[in-house]
Amino acid sequence: MVSVTFLAAVLLLNSSSQGLSDLITKDDNSAERGRRQGVGYPEMVCGPLGPNEHFSYNPVASDGVDKWWWQWKCCGGKLQSPIALDRRAARCLTASTPLYTGPPLLLAKLYNTGHDVQVTVVQAVSPVQLRNVGQTDLWSRYTLDNVHIHFGNQYSRGSEHVIDGQAFQAEMHLVHYNDKYGSLEQAMVHRDGLAVIAVTVSTERGDLNTHWADLLLAISTLRGSGESSAVPFQLMPDRLLPVRRDLFYYRGSLTTPSCSETVQFMVMEHPLLISAAMLQMLWSLPSDVPGVPISRNTNIRPLQPDNGRTVNTNFFC
Ligand SMILES: [Zn+2]
Repeated sequence: MVSVTFLAAVLLLNSSSQGLSDLITKDDNSAERGRRQGVGYPEMVCGPLGPNEHFSYNPVASDGVDKWWWQWKCCGGKLQSPIALDRRAARCLTASTPLYTGPPLLLAKLYNTGHDVQVTVVQAVSPVQLRNVGQTDLWSRYTLDNVHIHFGNQYSRGSEHVIDGQAFQAEMHLVHYNDKYGSLEQAMVHRDGLAVIAVTVSTERGDLNTHWADLLLAISTLRGSGESSAVPFQLMPDRLLPVRRDLFYYRGSLTTPSCSETVQFMVMEHPLLISAAMLQMLWSLPSDVPGVPISRNTNIRPLQPDNGRTVNTNFFC
């Protein structure tokens, strides 16, 4: 089941720091690691948003998705997410398969943030840790912080990542932080800080997953923006994933500000199934603008340039 086959993907490309040094942590020698990863660019590192910082997906707003880089410098970096993934260009069988350990039982709060629904872990009754993340951090342990869903307003595009030219109807992100940093906020300024599992969601094919169906049902009970669930949701992250764990792995960023480039992205190739009715439910979730659903402007960030980044897979391709 668990493939830990990985090959050294060492490509020494020219490095271009391009005046980014003020945003790069000095202690972890990111530039050197960036070269070893084969991308040629060092990571840009940014901390969490302040309490009064807001962003939107409205293309004409001053804080709209195409202008995030005005306010958050990392959003204009070279290692941004999402990207278009192409199995023909990927390095096959060079990534490990992430694995949850322990019998997980997490209590989570569902919360409509106004631009998505966050399922935030509030209590780990029985802690779960993610192992086998990426290539160089196989022995690090990552803790789940939150799960959230990106979606559009039409069937043709609802996922952030695109695989072999194909978009999906939605995309779920499971956001983890490296245990050694203690919290998401602390971890996001370190190169090995974050690990995000992205699961594509399709109305046409994929796994019928009862835990995923339970989560959607719980989300459907949320009414207004800023509203939390009254009853904790019992979250079992391992059960949320498709049975087939084929994935693309690459170095990227958070897809929302501050866009810190400290994410090991693992994008599942095999989707989860969603009914048309539940997709409509996501489309109708209210945003922080009265009378306007989140889906009006979607919560999908446009594709970002891959800038020659190496994409690895854990499957034959
Ligand atoms: Zn996300």
